[in-house]
Amino acid sequence: VEKEGLFYPPDPASRGSCFIGGNLAECSGGPRAVKYGVTKDYVLGVEAVCADGTVIRHGGKLLKNVTGYNLTQTLIGSEGTLAVITKVFLKLIPLPPYRLTMLALFPSLESSARAVPAVMNSGVIPSALEFIEGEAIAITSRHLGREIPQSEAELLIELDGDREQRVNEGAEIVCEQAMSLGAEDVLLADSAQKQQELWDMRRAIGEAVKSLSIYKEEDTVVPRSNFVPLVLGVKEIAARHGVTTVCYGHAGDGNLHVNILKMDLPDEVWNRDLDKTIEEIFSLTISLGGTISGEHGIGYSQKKFLPLAFSPEEIELMKRIKDAFDPKGILNPGKIFP
Ligand SMILES: Cc1cc2nc3c(=O)[nH]c(=O)nc-3n(C[C@H](O)[C@H](O)[C@H](O)COP(=O)(O)OP(=O)(O)OC[C@H]3O[C@@H](n4cnc5c(N)ncnc54)[C@H](O)[C@@H]3O)c2cc1C
Repeated sequence: VEKEGLFYPPDPASRGSCFIGGNLAECSGGPRAVKYGVTKDYVLGVEAVCADGTVIRHGGKLLKNVTGYNLTQTLIGSEGTLAVITKVFLKLIPLPPYRLTMLALFPSLESSARAVPAVMNSGVIPSALEFIEGEAIAITSRHLGREIPQSEAELLIELDGDREQRVNEGAEIVCEQAMSLGAEDVLLADSAQKQQELWDMRRAIGEAVKSLSIYKEEDTVVPRSNFVPLVLGVKEIAARHGVTTVCYGHAGDGNLHVNILKMDLPDEVWNRDLDKTIEEIFSLTISLGGTISGEHGIGYSQKKFLPLAFSPEEIELMKRIKDAFDPKGILNPGKIFP
């Protein structure tokens, strides 16, 4: 991080401490999870303070540990509702020296979505495989005031590794796969600056889309073999309800962020139909073997939909876990459970 001139936290006085608590509590994912996994895959142990002040420790500098229940992983992704994490033991891996980024342009949502499982089954594991629908590209291009190659749908694909030649060979395989599935073009970002421009564009999408309208963002996730029916099904549901959706996400993980935009819908129609639309999208997600949040968590705004994902018995069991850690319900009260 220091080598690239980026520091987090930016204030030099705070360096050495790091605000990772939220990432642990949300089990954050992001674009590189497709190859490297999510936060939980790197957490070997924690120290945490329970609601009554008891300090608990579990795990540590251990790659193996089956002693008792896995309290570490119970806390990771618990959205701050069980205990306050005060120390963490993380597995670290070296940063791969070679990286290659591509933008594959497709003539339709369907062809781009079909390319996702095909790329993943090609024997090459990309370090990122991001899906962006054309509307999101157009909005981001206007938002940034920058030319971005336009098409109906695009895949941002990144490969990395220890050997340049292997990365290039992998890129050839991925290009062939994309072209054989109907890609109009595959653009190669062959310099660090061009790679950065593509990632800057990807990172700007959320803000650009959300600047357009009142919105509600969903964080659907399905087995990636079901990415095609998810994308097409979301569009069908949105069309039936007369709402605009703009989708993008970590396709390699089967994780699709669906932004439902109010645009110029009258308030009463938006207020009446929004939950029904979300419920249908979530029901579709679950019927495809997925669930209602891949990386954003449940918090306050999604808790009413939790019964779509779990049986009453499962929710009760989770509530009993919450009660065991926090009997007075003082840690992030009101979150997760309806
Ligand atoms: C617009 C938007 C886009 C996002 N995009 C992504 C994405 O692409 N990928 C992804 O994985 N996630 C994404 N997220 C969710 C993301 O995982 C979390 O918002 C973020 O990682 C939390 O980090 P933070 O430092 O902002 O935590 P905060 O927002 O400060 O806290 C998040 C939660 O963690 C709790 N918490 C904080 N510290 C601790 C601690 N020490 N112990 C216990 N609980 C604690 C807080 O009480 C809070 O409930 C997105 C969120 C938003 C709002």
